[in-house]
Amino acid sequence: MRFSKLKLTGFKSFVDPTDLVISDGLTGVVGPNGCGKSNLLEALRWVMGENRPTAMRGGGMEDVIFAGAASRPARNFAEVVLQIDNSERLAPSGFNDSDQLEIVRRITRDVGSAYKTNGKDARARDVQMLFADAATGSHSPALVRQGQISELINAKPKARRRILEDAAGIAGLYQRRHEAELKLKNTEANLARVDDVIESLA
Ligand code: ATP
Repeated sequence: MRFSKLKLTGFKSFVDPTDLVISDGLTGVVGPNGCGKSNLLEALRWVMGENRPTAMRGGGMEDVIFAGAASRPARNFAEVVLQIDNSERLAPSGFNDSDQLEIVRRITRDVGSAYKTNGKDARARDVQMLFADAATGSHSPALVRQGQISELINAKPKARRRILEDAAGIAGLYQRRHEAELKLKNTEANLARVDDVIESLA
């Protein structure tokens, strides 16, 4: 699985449709302060399912929508498309039946976010799991934000362990275990209720 293209429309400073082609080898993004380099990295994190506005340097998720400038009105939606080259068929199961994967996330004012994978509606969880199983995603240690190295140096062992687990590709298993534990708890509560009903009928 290799990221091949990022397409942005109305996302932060990228008001006009913009394509970032990610070729083989190293891709460098250079430009003056404030030109939008970090916004590109945030777009990548966002399309992979980031749901914390603070990770987008915003107060609410709609802050990622182009907010307008002196000569241009604000936009009503933002969209990021991530194209992934899957010719080596390394995508997790359920996503591995085509040479190219396309993940789309769009946010519309007062409506919220919607996702698509290969043209079909998807849930945020499906997209988050896809990347967690592929040992990447919005929390991936491969995406290094400003100040993160010093945070890592000062991190507690538990937080460092999490980074190793992410890199080992078991973050998806943790999420599934958490969901299974919640289901188990609900089932236990339901069983207790059934016991109460049986007792009251006896
Ligand atoms: P530096 O090199 O200083 O870290 P950078 O190239 O990483 O800068 P970014 O931080 O990505 O730049 O971009 C900041 C720019 O994005 C600012 O000009 C800011 O006004 C603009 N911006 C952020 N959010 C929005 C938004 N919702 N609408 C319009 N512009 C936005």
